[in-house]
Amino acid sequence: MKKSILVVEDDKAIRNLITTTLETQGYGFHVADTGQKAILEAVSYQPDIIILDLGLPDMDGVEIITKVRSWSNNPIIVVSARSEDKDKIKALDAGADDYLTKPFSIDELLARIRVAFRKMNYDNSGAKEEPIFVNGGLKIDYSANTVYVDEEEVHLTPMEYRLLCLLTKNVGKVLTHNYILDKIWVNVLVDRDTQSLRVFMATLRKKIEKDPSEPKYIQTHIGVGYRLIRIADSGENE
Ligand code: CA
Repeated sequence: MKKSILVVEDDKAIRNLITTTLETQGYGFHVADTGQKAILEAVSYQPDIIILDLGLPDMDGVEIITKVRSWSNNPIIVVSARSEDKDKIKALDAGADDYLTKPFSIDELLARIRVAFRKMNYDNSGAKEEPIFVNGGLKIDYSANTVYVDEEEVHLTPMEYRLLCLLTKNVGKVLTHNYILDKIWVNVLVDRDTQSLRVFMATLRKKIEKDPSEPKYIQTHIGVGYRLIRIADSGENE
């Protein structure tokens, strides 16, 4: 999966400078020019990293940091014209990981992005789980965020990926709708209901199941939840 970055910046020239650079470096990105859009994108796009301007037309960037921190630990790099220590401290205390003052060097921003990704990898490697999950023809490389079905890579949206990871980390167990919603749903702007969960599950199945009407991997327990079936090495279900 391509590394994804959300660029929150209302100044069009700076936004274009950043996104053009990200593009040449092979990063995936989304942009937002208001605080409202930033939060919506943070929820729906689930970026690996957020690059955040503080002076936005509708909201102070610090407020965005606080909101995002209620559900995500991913790095937030502030790029702001505010150069006073008290502004930096406020942003860092709210949960920002790094702070660059405008005018900034684009090379320095790229270096900070690389540091942030390195730090994320360290954080992930600290976990005790196996880096590769294999279940029948389904394979997930957690460190690369990639999913394969029968040796072919499938491209999932961040939400589908989180849903699948939750199931694989609990393989064999039935997860109730509420448990799944608590674990992967964030508390703002997304309808937290079983209907939208069904929609995400349907699109996920379309991508990983050969025949979504007769799922091999994800079993539905009507009125209860879902279970990822553990498949023995022979390819037969347990
Ligand atoms: Ca601004």
